[in-house]
Amino acid sequence: MDELREECGIFGIYGHTEAANLAYLGLYALQHRGQESVGIATSDGERLQIHKAMGYVADNFSEDTFAKLAGTSAIGHVRYSTAGESGVKNAQPILIDCAHGEIAIGHNGNLVNAQELRDRLVGQGSIFQTTSDTDTLLHLYARSRAATIEDALIESVTQAQGAFSLVLLTRDRLIAVRDPHGFRPLTLGRLGDAYIVCSETCALDLIDAQWVRDIEPGEMLVIGPEGAKSYHPFTPAPAAHCIFEHVYFARPDSYVFGQSVNEVRTEFGRRLAREQAVPADVVVPIPDSGVCAATGFAEVSGVPLRMGLIRNHYVGRTFIEPHQSIRHFGVRVKLNPVKSILQGKRVVLVDDSLVRGTTSRKIVKMVRAAGASEVHMRISCPPTVSPCFYGVDTPRRAELIAATHTLEEIRRYIGADSLGYLSLEGLLGAVGPARGDYCTSCYTGRYPVAFPQDEAAYLQLALKLAE
Ligand code: SF4
Repeated sequence: MDELREECGIFGIYGHTEAANLAYLGLYALQHRGQESVGIATSDGERLQIHKAMGYVADNFSEDTFAKLAGTSAIGHVRYSTAGESGVKNAQPILIDCAHGEIAIGHNGNLVNAQELRDRLVGQGSIFQTTSDTDTLLHLYARSRAATIEDALIESVTQAQGAFSLVLLTRDRLIAVRDPHGFRPLTLGRLGDAYIVCSETCALDLIDAQWVRDIEPGEMLVIGPEGAKSYHPFTPAPAAHCIFEHVYFARPDSYVFGQSVNEVRTEFGRRLAREQAVPADVVVPIPDSGVCAATGFAEVSGVPLRMGLIRNHYVGRTFIEPHQSIRHFGVRVKLNPVKSILQGKRVVLVDDSLVRGTTSRKIVKMVRAAGASEVHMRISCPPTVSPCFYGVDTPRRAELIAATHTLEEIRRYIGADSLGYLSLEGLLGAVGPARGDYCTSCYTGRYPVAFPQDEAAYLQLALKLAE
């Protein structure tokens, strides 16, 4: 893969007779945030039920499953593993029974001190059945001697450092927690009298729920029979929303961190066109994620936007090339060039990121083979030079082409006539007055939350990538 992959999507609902069905629909809208596993836990007020499976939301729920997922509250999770191995054992929600009663948890993000906490817990006799960092939070919760669920949770989550947007379900409560930096999005909505919390507003739209507000960084919202109560148990910290949600991860029809993803992404493209202008005949997005930025680029440059690359939406994550002798479909399995648009044209390709460069190289070659006279690559974010420790699956620094190569070396590697990135100033300018509230570590190497020393090995430069 030559893409940064999303970490997870979470959804929670309280006070609706169709809780499991609505959680299913919510997860359906959040499928882009994780495709490896899916799970829903429900509560009928007495007991919790759970169903988890590997693969897509649409493939894993039936009438029988919903019949078992009884109750008026539910949480759901879609996962792409960033910490811990992949496998149904690590799928979420994770459900445990402990002295505080049954509890299920769904986590989006990554704890930077998970290993440290885990080592301490193992030293005190804890046994871990999964490799997920989320498990660590549950161990801390289960060990707490606090008298109430709220206090036990506060005691556990305040020991965690890093990125965590959480949904938790107990017998009679739905709880949402967001880390004090607010790395990952988490938003609140209402559907009639029911409460909803979810990663992105596109999940609210699908079920016709009304957006209320974002869960604040450092907030723990407890929704129960008495209504909703907000706690702020964390030491306040500078905001560090993940700018990559706007660059690539979030759906363009969502609002995250209070802004329309579509608007911000289009503005990236406008600014890119001003900063990296080039004479051209056609602007072609690399679908789907390059479409908004390409729209902005075309708008400012005056060069027409055309869909010169068509994506096959039916390529699943488990695609296996059928036979050695007919291998090397390469990127063609996913993208096919439209010759009538590209032939004899000076083409500007707009993409949202360039990670290792291997896919861009194939696409440039393919566009040239389709007859383009020039191919100019434009990227709607700055060069990715450092890995993410906050829940996004980035390669090690040695594999990030921009960390080890000059701009000219990357241009030659991908075979483009020119290459231009959006500047950091352009990126932050697009989010407006909120610019100081964003994490940009993967573009700057400056990290808002320190990570353990053994992780620092990731940052050491290795030999240059082989051509
Ligand atoms: S390092 Fe990059 S991907 Fe990770 S949270 Fe920060 S902006 Fe997002």
